[in-house]
Amino acid sequence: MERKFDVVVIGSGPAGYKASKLLLKRGLSVCIVEKEVFGGLCLNAGCIPKDMLYGIALSLQRIKNLKGNTVSLSWEETLKQVQSKILRLRKLAEDQLRSKGLAIVYGEAELIEEKKVKVGRTTLTADYIILACGSKPPTEGILPEDILKGKVIPEGRVSIKGNDPSAYELAFILKAFDREVVLEVKEGLLSSFPQISETIYLKLETALENCGVVIVENLSGEGFLINAEKRKPNLCPQRFPFIKLTSDGYADTDPYLETSVPGVYAVGDLVPPQGAGFAFEKARVAVSNILYGKSFRFDPSKIPFLITSACEVGFVGDINKVARFEYKPLSVNPKIFVNHEGGILQIGYDESDKPVFIAGAGHGLCEILNVFSAVLGGWFSHPSYGEILEEILAPIV
Ligand SMILES: Cc1cc2nc3c(=O)[nH]c(=O)nc-3n(C[C@H](O)[C@H](O)[C@H](O)COP(=O)(O)OP(=O)(O)OC[C@H]3O[C@@H](n4cnc5c(N)ncnc54)[C@H](O)[C@@H]3O)c2cc1C
Repeated sequence: MERKFDVVVIGSGPAGYKASKLLLKRGLSVCIVEKEVFGGLCLNAGCIPKDMLYGIALSLQRIKNLKGNTVSLSWEETLKQVQSKILRLRKLAEDQLRSKGLAIVYGEAELIEEKKVKVGRTTLTADYIILACGSKPPTEGILPEDILKGKVIPEGRVSIKGNDPSAYELAFILKAFDREVVLEVKEGLLSSFPQISETIYLKLETALENCGVVIVENLSGEGFLINAEKRKPNLCPQRFPFIKLTSDGYADTDPYLETSVPGVYAVGDLVPPQGAGFAFEKARVAVSNILYGKSFRFDPSKIPFLITSACEVGFVGDINKVARFEYKPLSVNPKIFVNHEGGILQIGYDESDKPVFIAGAGHGLCEILNVFSAVLGGWFSHPSYGEILEEILAPIV
């Protein structure tokens, strides 16, 4: 069977979902191809379950700070609740797009011609194709997503290693759920984020240690081991033979996110940097270029990056424009003083003394980054309450 659409989107994670939603709003015919479950990594085993668990872990930790280790929750029971919410959310998201006219084909897509996608016995042709296939784990073993899906239950002493931010996030969550947690921190961890200075990074380490996470340089006698290595782009050359890749396996796009094949765009984790907040922005850029002609460039400095762990750590803005930095304590604000004493903000000013970059460590940082991003004309951290404003107020693209 052969079907024709304006746009075929491969992958239903944040990048594919967002791109489809924007295209449908403009009246284009869109088909998503998905080989697993709707919503991708972010909804099913990444940002969203993690964020729910993080909220619970933070409350648990705060009560423990007040009352000692007298409060505990069952990990298994909590995860069941989280997963049932995810199921509801997944159905809502899929139904919402179907009601707007989205076609969904379940199966594994391959590009058999430059603008022709094959899924089982179905062939889909389109004027434009958006590749949103996400990322894949680089290693074997137990992965953060296995923990969040409830595929394995962390028992006893839990060791976590790897250079993905989820290592810090899981360490905090599992500690709040009374696991003995050992985190391997190698020199250079988070080094792919030059925006995070040592001062800020050390705040995160200290906050984790204060919660009881043991930080070591080399794990020994690992016990239950979680591999939180940075994920790899999921674009295998056999299935996508026409698409040029970079030496590290990302889609080789121009600044407008068009690949080596005209009319084929790559978004989400197929293009650095990884992260759902960036994935949404890449989707907006690709869709704008499809709708209005190639003139919109992807600029990651417009999107806040955030790690939610024993304290929040993140940044937004363009560090390359910074002429001088200034550090300020976060605790000058009474709300932050009562919730997280010891937080810090690093502000970067350009030549004309205009603030162009902010990084920090401390609870409440997400809100600060979102506000600063809005001032810079950027978007919001994911997941965050601020994102609702984009849904309500933002123009279509
Ligand atoms: C534990 C954890 C926590 C995280 N927390 C955050 C966070 O708080 N904030 C944040 O911004 N990011 C977070 N991330 C990262 C975020 O989940 C990813 O960056 C995001 O999901 C990438 O979106 P995507 O649309 O590119 O790909 P994905 O979400 O991976 O979706 C890709 C989809 O494409 C499908 N697919 C792949 N190949 C094919 C094919 N050939 N045919 C058909 N379908 C295909 C896959 O099945 C998948 O559903 C987290 C990740 C993890 C692991």
